[in-house]
Amino acid sequence: MSSSSPSVAIIGGGLAGLASAAALGSADYNVSLYEARPFLGGRATSYQLNSGDEGDATTIDNCQHVLLRCCTNLLDFYRRLGVADRVEFHREFYWIEPGGRTSVMKRGRLPAPLHFTESFAKLRFLSLSDKFSVASGLLSVRYEYGTRKDLARITMMDWLREKKQSTGAIERFWRQVLVSAINEDLETMAAVHGLQVFYLGFLANPIAYEMGIPRVPLGELYSEKSWAEYPKVKIVERAIAQGVTVENGRVKAVTVSDKPVTADAFIFAVPFERLTALLPSVEVNLTPFRHSPITGIHLWFDRKITDLPHATLLDRTVQWMFNKGEGRYIQLVVSASRGLTGMSRNDVIDLAVRELQDFFPAVRQAKVERAHVVKEVRATFSATPELEGIRPVNKTSIPNLFLTGDWTRSGWPSTMEGAVRSGYLAAEAATEALGNKQRFLIRHPSESKNQR
Ligand SMILES: Cc1cc2nc3c(=O)[nH]c(=O)nc-3n(C[C@H](O)[C@H](O)[C@H](O)COP(=O)(O)OP(=O)(O)OC[C@H]3O[C@@H](n4cnc5c(N)ncnc54)[C@H](O)[C@@H]3O)c2cc1C
Repeated sequence: MSSSSPSVAIIGGGLAGLASAAALGSADYNVSLYEARPFLGGRATSYQLNSGDEGDATTIDNCQHVLLRCCTNLLDFYRRLGVADRVEFHREFYWIEPGGRTSVMKRGRLPAPLHFTESFAKLRFLSLSDKFSVASGLLSVRYEYGTRKDLARITMMDWLREKKQSTGAIERFWRQVLVSAINEDLETMAAVHGLQVFYLGFLANPIAYEMGIPRVPLGELYSEKSWAEYPKVKIVERAIAQGVTVENGRVKAVTVSDKPVTADAFIFAVPFERLTALLPSVEVNLTPFRHSPITGIHLWFDRKITDLPHATLLDRTVQWMFNKGEGRYIQLVVSASRGLTGMSRNDVIDLAVRELQDFFPAVRQAKVERAHVVKEVRATFSATPELEGIRPVNKTSIPNLFLTGDWTRSGWPSTMEGAVRSGYLAAEAATEALGNKQRFLIRHPSESKNQR
């Protein structure tokens, strides 16, 4: 294609919009992307935190974001931007009980799906009967994911009860993994998401579970340098879309910061709560959409409190610990953190430090030099059974207008992979409408056609 190749305007510079831009840019479309904020990445971003001391600014992520190797589209997106090598993969998962006893889960020598057998047998936080319970549950995941039809209509807890899972297995295994992965309680999330995490991440192949943690602040992944390979992608920050002009059943222009922007096709990559104000003429049933919060707690200690790179913490409010620097800068994550949203910042910090003492004795002597709490009340959508069947597809009733975002029907819950998948699907739909259908999405072999 040439400079006369079709043009696509994208509204929103979160991962979904950026993924659409990278896909269309690599297929030589003329792309212009408009982001309201002065930086890219949306909910997966970083910013500078000033300590108050002159010149002392630290760049932090809004919250630790992790991925698994089974996030094939997100990894493809990072490759397109030339930043895939900035993600470090970890093979060990550390589980710590109050008191400090630590268990490690990692793959062994057996082939998938038995690759965890050796380390699973040694986990100390589950009793023998809990382990049998989990093993039989995982066997059911293997048989039911992708074949059983009602998984999107029941909750994960319904499914676990049906499988007669023990209390220990539910509380210390299924809940511990899934609340963080889906950002929702077992009693509320649709079972299909829970089974997908274990099927794709734990059972499908032996490396799929490896946890990727970006080595650089999230914002650096989508920096100007990353886009240098795409001269036909123009990115405009501080550009707020205000509405659309529809003429003869097609979008003619989008008003961005009071000026009309024209293009052959338009992709809206904004969160669901912005849709009605921007696109009143697009009919999407948003009634069942609710948010689920995540709280990130950043603590800087005066000394090292752990050597572990990360760990999941059992039986407490805080679910994950990430060692962000020399065992002194620690980031804690609480998913589905409704219990913390009404608490004061100081109470959240006190709770976090108190809980950390149960896992890392060094915290008792350590002094907190600095602390920062980020409560993201609109972190993700709540992945309920009511929602799954009505998540909208990317096409709309207007032939040159497309939707994307983690909340659309991506086949994944609200995650970076879900956002990128949706971005690729919207880009595919736009190319089809522009007369030259392209394929961008990498589908997992287990994805049956009727899953989307
Ligand atoms: C605290 C937290 C922790 C998380 N942890 C993880 C994790 O560990 N792993 C994981 O996979 N996922 C995680 N997620 C989820 C993940 O961040 C999101 O699913 C994903 O980033 C959503 O991307 P998106 O592009 O769909 O939406 P957004 O990121 O919300 O992007 C939408 C963009 O549109 C812009 N916009 C809105 N209105 C306008 C307008 N009028 N004009 C122009 N631009 C506009 C916004 O500024 C924003 O940049 C986490 C999310 C949060 C908040």
